[in-house]
Amino acid sequence: MTDYLSTGTLPEDYRDLALTVREFARTVVAPVSAEHDANHTFPYEVVQGMAEMGLFGLPFPEEYGGMGGDYFALCLALEELGKVDQSVAITLEAGVSLGAMPIHRFGTDKQREQWLPSLTSGRALAGFGLTEPDAGSDAGGTRTTAVLDGGDWLINGRKQFITNSGTDITALVTVTAVTGQTGGKKEISTILVPSGTPGFAVEPAYNKVGWNASDTHPLSFTDVRVPEANLLGERGRGYANFLRILDEGRIAIAALSVGAAQGCVDESVRYAKERLAFGQPIGRNQAIAFKIARMETRAHVARTAYYDAAALMLAGKPFKKQASIAKLVASEAAMDNARDATQIFGGNGFMNEYAVARHYRDSKILEIGEGTTEVQLMLIGRELGL
Ligand SMILES: Cc1cc2nc3c(=O)[nH]c(=O)nc-3n(C[C@H](O)[C@H](O)[C@H](O)COP(=O)(O)OP(=O)(O)OC[C@H]3O[C@@H](n4cnc5c(N)ncnc54)[C@H](O)[C@@H]3O)c2cc1C
Repeated sequence: MTDYLSTGTLPEDYRDLALTVREFARTVVAPVSAEHDANHTFPYEVVQGMAEMGLFGLPFPEEYGGMGGDYFALCLALEELGKVDQSVAITLEAGVSLGAMPIHRFGTDKQREQWLPSLTSGRALAGFGLTEPDAGSDAGGTRTTAVLDGGDWLINGRKQFITNSGTDITALVTVTAVTGQTGGKKEISTILVPSGTPGFAVEPAYNKVGWNASDTHPLSFTDVRVPEANLLGERGRGYANFLRILDEGRIAIAALSVGAAQGCVDESVRYAKERLAFGQPIGRNQAIAFKIARMETRAHVARTAYYDAAALMLAGKPFKKQASIAKLVASEAAMDNARDATQIFGGNGFMNEYAVARHYRDSKILEIGEGTTEVQLMLIGRELGL
């Protein structure tokens, strides 16, 4: 079925989903976006609405409370939300792709039964704790440690920039930690740490440039004890497992970025028809029309790239290179389109209440999170044998 995914003709169930989320974004998300952005507040009511629509369960089996859909369905939802509000879109992306997916992919039956129903229903969120103060792009540089002590993991260390880690509905964070050495190399494993575990501190939220309505915190772990059974996946496979999660996540971030890029086009087309200067709509000037045509082209090419990566992934074929390409072109399309849209909006483009101004601040992180542009280039180069 995935062989004929095209940006022009989507199968009906995917199209229906995209249209439903588009309507939700227009009627529920857009009216409160500027306010949550200005106040740096987490949009609980919007998250609840997404939960009621089943968005947090999209790619998960029904036996764990999911919708029985697939990862491409999640991407379509992210694209629609990303057009209107990147904070809301990243909350869903991180909740599903980084929060619940590791448990679904690598958890035991017991761990899935314990955590997935609340995560797939959107009643709870989980964080993905990989990045540390001294381990970002070089995530293998993890310094957080976990040692077995009397049947418990004893965890010490710090994580930074962790999305969805400090909301009222955050239930746990999955962290990477060094659990030993094998063959002179660090053995890195992943461990589930429930919120509220003594010694696990969620530090005050960051004051960010954008994504102001999304939840991001530094975390610290001081002699945190969790049962040995909280190991997620095989001991020593934690880093590799998280890299697999990031490969998929890049397709999702690409979809969100395409949404942002397209949102900038849509806003610009509307504004260019309405705004008058020198006695005519500014869109009549070829300089403006060409700018918007280029923006549309960037969004379209980036969409094609993420559709391709998703189709390969769903077909069970290698998709690492295509996911990196999609993430690279889509994040750059979002940033470039946000800059151009802001220019088209003139002074209004510099006013925070305008959606394009928010895209201008929000889009920069798309070139950084879940692997920077340079990391994508490294991965593409490696896939080419360089
Ligand atoms: C809002 C936000 C949310 C986030 N959410 C999460 C989350 O939920 N979970 C999580 O684990 N992390 C999260 N992150 C962290 C994010 O993934 C990292 O910030 C990102 O991977 C970059 O790591 P770094 O910040 O340490 O930068 P660094 O790794 O220090 O990189 C600094 C610069 O050097 C470049 N660079 C590094 N190495 C090379 C090289 N070999 N060649 C060329 N250039 C290089 C980088 O591309 C970058 O431009 C989040 C970050 C932000 C800002």
